[in-house]
Amino acid sequence: SNFSTYQLSPKIEEALTAMHYTEPTEVQQKVIPKVLDKKDVIVKSQTGSGKTAAFVIPTCENIIWEENKPQAIILTPTRELAVQVCEEVTSIGRYKRIKAVPVYGKEPIHVQINQLKQKTHVVVGTPGRMVDHLERGTLDVSHVKYVIIDEADEMLNMGFIDTVNNILQQLPRERVTMLFSATLPVEIEQLCQQYMKTPEKIEI
Ligand code: AMP
Repeated sequence: SNFSTYQLSPKIEEALTAMHYTEPTEVQQKVIPKVLDKKDVIVKSQTGSGKTAAFVIPTCENIIWEENKPQAIILTPTRELAVQVCEEVTSIGRYKRIKAVPVYGKEPIHVQINQLKQKTHVVVGTPGRMVDHLERGTLDVSHVKYVIIDEADEMLNMGFIDTVNNILQQLPRERVTMLFSATLPVEIEQLCQQYMKTPEKIEI
């Protein structure tokens, strides 16, 4: 199989070709059609499986360039991962000119506040800084339709689970939620039960 199976818009397909992504990986084959069908997914998979593109491709496909408010929120446990994911969004969304902004601690918040004032389609960041922006009113989530919780078990290990809960509570109900994790401890299962709509579990 290849990516043309999913009938992605030409701008997304061209970006994948430029990146030399010719064949979808297993996790991409399982996740992309579900998300395009607006289904919530819980994905048990490891780094290296192509999980990032599995959530970035269908999210970028559905981003509407003309809309100026953030349409997708991606939560990551670390700043390094936030930057990597942001780069993947920028690459896959290149020909749609999708604008992704990374937000994380240890960087002056006013820099991010200024970036968030510009056209932003996707916000990628760590839970602490994301909540900080929500509290300051510098991140408008009223138009968010796609939410990704990446490396959920790492966020649990780092003590971010309450913060993740807090953020999920503030997001519009009408949305697609994707959760990625190498393991599914009970706290993560509970989070899925509380914040996802009849999610499908995908194991790689
Ligand atoms: P990840 O699991 O998201 O960290 O991705 C692991 C690596 O696989 C990254 O270097 C990606 O650029 C690469 N990758 C993801 N999807 C594909 C694909 N369909 N074809 C080739 N490489 C890919």
